[in-house]
Amino acid sequence: MQEVIKKIFNDIKILNEGKVADYIPELAKVDPNKFAISVCKVNGEQFNIGDTNDYFCLQSCSKPLSYCIAHDILGRDELHKKVGYEPSGQAFNAFILNKSGLPHNPMINAGAIMVASQIGKGQEPSKRFNIIKSYYNKLAGETEKTGFDNSVFLSEQHHADRNISLAYYMRENGAFEDKISPNEITESLNLYFQQCSTTINCKMAAVIAATLANAGVCPLTSEQVVTTDAVKDCLTLMYGCGMYDYSGQFSFEVGLPAKSGVSGCILLVI
Ligand code: GLN
Repeated sequence: MQEVIKKIFNDIKILNEGKVADYIPELAKVDPNKFAISVCKVNGEQFNIGDTNDYFCLQSCSKPLSYCIAHDILGRDELHKKVGYEPSGQAFNAFILNKSGLPHNPMINAGAIMVASQIGKGQEPSKRFNIIKSYYNKLAGETEKTGFDNSVFLSEQHHADRNISLAYYMRENGAFEDKISPNEITESLNLYFQQCSTTINCKMAAVIAATLANAGVCPLTSEQVVTTDAVKDCLTLMYGCGMYDYSGQFSFEVGLPAKSGVSGCILLVI
């Protein structure tokens, strides 16, 4: 395996098209030359190459993780009364809802904001963030801890025009079901920004992917962190919607459940 990964690493490292995201200004400061691949197998065996110790924000790679948490709290049926499961065919932050006035799926921003709104509902913000942090750490095997980039969080919050609009568009369409207050919307948006601003390194990301590949059991700790039912639905959604409006092309060419994030990370589950 190591030789194959080394070859993939060397083949890809020389590609330098594309650019770092700058619509969240703090993300524009990231060095675009950083590159790493980490693999964790379901037996816990790991292989790392490149800048695998450097921390980066999870951004949208947090969406499948929070989806599993909300799935375990609410159950599939309750959760999917609030969010759909079809690809939208549109960009991650597109201003659209499905025919039922719900976000198309949990992998796009509107859907992920909805999912975040269901985690620790009614509890104070610190407790809600602690639920997410604790799950993320367990998914990543607890050997290294998640961090938090407050500058990115503040930057997201300050440039949140689209995400705030999406949340209020969902409210206008009754997507939240119960009468959510503006204050609750703000708290759920903040939780979403916080999960996106949570930092991990590439090695931890690989353990998270391996936990998903292993039906929710972390290969390093043997703990069942999220249920098999949640992981099964999560992988289906990653396969169909994880790469946004490139999901079809990605499934066609790669054919594996994946999730991208604007910080430049991809979680791939084999
Ligand atoms: N925090 C980012 C946003 O809400 C996440 C988007 C992404 O990674 N695709 O815009």
